Amino acid sequence: MQFGDSRLSKSFWSKHKLDANDCWSYIGTKIDWDGRAVVYLEKRNGNKMVGYNYRKTSDLIHGPLPKGMTRSHVCPGGANKLCCNPSHIIYEDTHANTARYWETKRGK
Ligand SMILES: [Zn+2]
Repeated sequence: MQFGDSRLSKSFWSKHKLDANDCWSYIGTKIDWDGRAVVYLEKRNGNKMVGYNYRKTSDLIHGPLPKGMTRSHVCPGGANKLCCNPSHIIYEDTHANTARYWETKRGK
């Protein structure tokens, strides 16, 4: 997948920039308490479903998230929560995710 891929809207890409380490960083204003970029995904049953920018790209490339798995940022420069480059997103189970989280903390 390339930055600016036509499967996603122009307005989606206009809120991102090509960053260091090939990160596709969100530059919009909708950032949640955890530092993640919130984009509107779709309307379902008349309700707006809210999701993260990296969910949009990783679903396209890796498919829907399997049950019990979580999406993790593995950016070359360290986890960049605003990044939506699908090659920086892996699916792993929550145990692996938590273990890696603490490993990173200890390494700092
Ligand atoms: Zn990244």
